[in-house]
Amino acid sequence: MAINGTNGVTNGALNGEFQHGTQVIDGDKEFTQTMPDYLAATHILQAGFSYHLISVFGSQSTGKSTLLNHLFNTSFPVMSESSRQQTTKGIWMSMATDPDASPESGKPQMAKNILVMDVEGTDGRERGEDQDFERKSALFALATSEVLIVNIWEHQVGLYQGANMGLLKTVFEVNLQLFQKDKSTVHRSLLFFVIRDHIGHTPLENLKNTLLADLNNIWYSLSKPAGLESSSISDFFDFTFTTLPHKLLQPDQFKAETQKLKLRFREETPLNAKQTANGVLDTANTGIFLPAYHRRIPADGLPHYAANIWRMITENKDLDLPTQQELLAQYRCDEISTACVELFDEIITPFEAALNQKVVQADLGPSMKSALDIAIAKFTEEAGRYHKGVYKRKLEDLEKKLQARLRVLFVAQLTAAHKTAIAVFADTIQKGIKRSGADFASLVTETRSAVLADFIAEAVACSLDGAFVYTDELKTVEKELDDRATRLRGEEMSRLLARMEKSLKTKFASEDDGMAYMFKTISPTLYPRIWKLFTDSTSAQVAVFTQKSTALNATADENEQAVYKLKRQAWRVLRGLLDEETKEQSLITRLMGYFDKDFRYDEHGVPRVWKAGEDIEGTFAKSKETVLSLIPSLATFELQDGSSPPLAEFIGEAPAGMEEDGGAAAEEEEDEEDVTSASSSKTFTILTLGRAFVDAKRGTISSVAQIPVWFY
Ligand code: GDP
Ligand code: MG
Repeated sequence: MAINGTNGVTNGALNGEFQHGTQVIDGDKEFTQTMPDYLAATHILQAGFSYHLISVFGSQSTGKSTLLNHLFNTSFPVMSESSRQQTTKGIWMSMATDPDASPESGKPQMAKNILVMDVEGTDGRERGEDQDFERKSALFALATSEVLIVNIWEHQVGLYQGANMGLLKTVFEVNLQLFQKDKSTVHRSLLFFVIRDHIGHTPLENLKNTLLADLNNIWYSLSKPAGLESSSISDFFDFTFTTLPHKLLQPDQFKAETQKLKLRFREETPLNAKQTANGVLDTANTGIFLPAYHRRIPADGLPHYAANIWRMITENKDLDLPTQQELLAQYRCDEISTACVELFDEIITPFEAALNQKVVQADLGPSMKSALDIAIAKFTEEAGRYHKGVYKRKLEDLEKKLQARLRVLFVAQLTAAHKTAIAVFADTIQKGIKRSGADFASLVTETRSAVLADFIAEAVACSLDGAFVYTDELKTVEKELDDRATRLRGEEMSRLLARMEKSLKTKFASEDDGMAYMFKTISPTLYPRIWKLFTDSTSAQVAVFTQKSTALNATADENEQAVYKLKRQAWRVLRGLLDEETKEQSLITRLMGYFDKDFRYDEHGVPRVWKAGEDIEGTFAKSKETVLSLIPSLATFELQDGSSPPLAEFIGEAPAGMEEDGGAAAEEEEDEEDVTSASSSKTFTILTLGRAFVDAKRGTISSVAQIPVWFY
């Protein structure tokens, strides 16, 4: 990179690579890597803080580049008057030189090491893409530069649109958000308004006031970050205003004025630069580079600093404007999406309408799948032609929306299928149990897998090829089925127990071989025989029960508990019957029957006919003796050897798990008492019997005299 002449001397322009400066941001909005080389070539890289960075802001084709070239002897591309051709887009940087510089003259000189940035946009204002770059480049200029030259035509002053005030508002807003919100890093910049094509009818002062009013309005209306709500524009910016004559109509004046103007780009001390309260640099001829505007970035750090600022700008979504292509894609994708949803609705709405019936809906799964497929296929085909990013986003939106609706149906279907599975299961088992000879265990296993298979088939059909999962629901159904099976088995066992209890009761009470029969022939072996009846019958039933409960698939524990219950219940039944048989009145009746048989009938069963002088007393005493001798054997429930029946042993200990109900132990004790209480409760019988005998005797004696009637 050859340098023609030295920086700051009459001609500092560079040849070759850097002839037109360097492109800082290229046409693809990328930050280039050329700035360090350019700064090296211009000898600014090692200048420390001794450099300035300025930019220009304004509408396209308002003569910005022309102005810069006149002021700074740069060669930014200028749109030619004849061809009006588009220049290369991007942000360009060039070092200012002053060919007329004469440091020896003692007159004010333009500052050295001024880096000027020029923004090239395109003319097509309506194209979103360009506005996006316009915003970002304007913010970049504002954020990095000490001085922002705001280029504006006189007739644009006061026109919000024409003067680019809308753009300024956005740029101010994001500038505050991104770079100025932290009070410690707040820095000032100078907004240097250059009013072009000034005819002279309106004095600068008026133009200045109009612009200042506009700026304050903009500032007032923009949204400010927390803490800066009450800030004013002059907290961040100084202003200066100048006018230039029409370049084409008054070329000489234009030239002369720009030559004067360029000399204002010199360093100034704050003392000299008189500022008014509203931030306006008051004197028309003071230098404009105040130390306060300098960002204090050493020149060799400038490329990095600028790159960072550009990165923050491009990453900030507030500045993004959708391109025209994206806008179109959004519009069309939305339209197509709506049409797709309508197709989807045709299939799905009837199912949604039937949701409140809470039943398994036939054909739901295939319908869900085809509705989704049809809608997505249509969208893919028709919207796929538009902007890829927008299309993808809208496709996702559509999928999410449709899936959300399908999920509602899926969940409802699972709930209904769940209900059906349980109902069918319970019903099948119930019916199966009623069928004689059904094997409960295999009935449960088979029914369980059948209803689960149905449930899974329905869930899979509605799962949209696995997009929706049903594992949790399946687990719940399985658990409920198992609980149901346990409950049904419990009920079945209870029914079985009740049946066994009933048949034991019949057996115990039987007139043929049960207690009713035994009590007919009261003898000392009565209770041993009853005990045998009890243990034999109960054991037989326990054997039958165990066999049946195994068929029910009962666990060993369940069986053990049931057997325990059965034995205890058997004893209660027996006790109940025994109590009936040994009730005072029935016992007396039985004993008196005995007595009658013995006393009133002879050994052949023929009623005795008492003749006077016959030994009534002796016969009576003998019969009484016989009956009384029976009483001890009735008084106590004893086995033949005089021992208590081993009831506790027979029933066994309460199995684990049953103790918890607390009643078991207490009931057990009760049963124990039952065994022995036969004796104490029966003592009364002897006394009562005594009275009965006396009555019987009295009756008989009187009957002899009065012709007895009652014994026929
Ligand atoms: P830029 O797009 O803002 O950089 O504008 P250019 O510097 O490329 O100039 C755009 C057009 O405006 C060119 O045809 C210039 O000749 C013309 N132009 C430059 N300066 C002036 C001026 O002071 N007054 C008028 N009316 N036209 C100018
Ligand atoms: Mg230009």
